[in-house]
Amino acid sequence: MIKIEKFIFNPFSENTYLVYDEESLDGLIIDPGCYSEDEKKLLSDFINKNCIKIKYLINTHCHIDHVLGNKFIKEKYGPIFLAPEKDMMLLDKLSMQSEMVDLAVDESPKPDKFMDEGMEIFLGEEKFNFIETPGHTPGEYCIHYAKNKILFSGDVLFQDSIGRTDLWGGSYNQLINSIKNKLFLLEKETVVLPGHGDSTTIVNEMLNNDFLK
Ligand SMILES: [Zn+2]
Repeated sequence: MIKIEKFIFNPFSENTYLVYDEESLDGLIIDPGCYSEDEKKLLSDFINKNCIKIKYLINTHCHIDHVLGNKFIKEKYGPIFLAPEKDMMLLDKLSMQSEMVDLAVDESPKPDKFMDEGMEIFLGEEKFNFIETPGHTPGEYCIHYAKNKILFSGDVLFQDSIGRTDLWGGSYNQLINSIKNKLFLLEKETVVLPGHGDSTTIVNEMLNNDFLK
């Protein structure tokens, strides 16, 4: 069975998700925002205590609050690092992002692979795939665990809100298109786990999200 542990990290209250398969103990980390030593310890203690083997490190997109722990996770666990190709200019300019928000940051390693919509990854026998959803950034991907109807929505879709599009490379029209023509085609009961704030469902956002009416 797949288990999901959520951590809220860094001054931006970013949601870092640790996803793992109880049988194989294979795990993946989505958007490691761990910043302080205490946050890194909290995450690594949980991984160690539960004997989780971190197979993948995934960035939904490459804004600084979602990648602060990339170096720590890659060096400590050696996972395959997946990120969106079209966000590489953000990852390459991490030091510029860090000056803008006044956070010291470890330079990120380069991704081992870029994800695409045809890619499937597995934790044990459990399958995850990617949905390309640009708009908040040029390359953002959501991660879909179809079997249990769970979507990790990064900063694309939030409870009663959507990602901001005023940052470099953002596009409002593209974001609305990504949500309405990609995410809203998923099963309505799909649980949405966003990069900030509380979880929601696709149907709740279809009915109640003022940005999407
Ligand atoms: Zn973002």
